[in-house]
Amino acid sequence: MVLHLTHLLNLPGVIVDSWDSDENSVCFHLRILAEGMDCPHCSNYTEELHQIRPIVVRDLPACGKDVYLKVPRRQFYCCICQRYITERLKFIDWRRKYTQRYEESIYYQVNNLHIEQVCQQEHLSVAEVKNIVNYLNRRRQNKKRIN
Ligand SMILES: [Zn+2]
Repeated sequence: MVLHLTHLLNLPGVIVDSWDSDENSVCFHLRILAEGMDCPHCSNYTEELHQIRPIVVRDLPACGKDVYLKVPRRQFYCCICQRYITERLKFIDWRRKYTQRYEESIYYQVNNLHIEQVCQQEHLSVAEVKNIVNYLNRRRQNKKRIN
């Protein structure tokens, strides 16, 4: 476990286990601290791990390098509902391949720079940047509707 990097990363419920990097990017390998999760259907707490599939998501850049997080996506089994349930992490929205803070940062940049500048800076395609902006616009509209 890399204690200083965990503090630096500043994300809830995870620690940095190890990391690797190349010329342009760095990848932090994360471990989740919680042993189990509450079932979203019946609230039963379960630690019955069914499978782990690592996913890689983009996070805010550091020291001039693109940053990626390798995160274990864990699936548990709830013996009450007899269902497999997938853990959700606080800092990544469901099925997104970026952290929330990274998507917020792109959204902010697009409001202040030309989209081409953002693409160049972040090494993202126009389609990827538009996908983030549209996603956050939709999420904000949904929030307004709920409130
Ligand atoms: Zn359940």
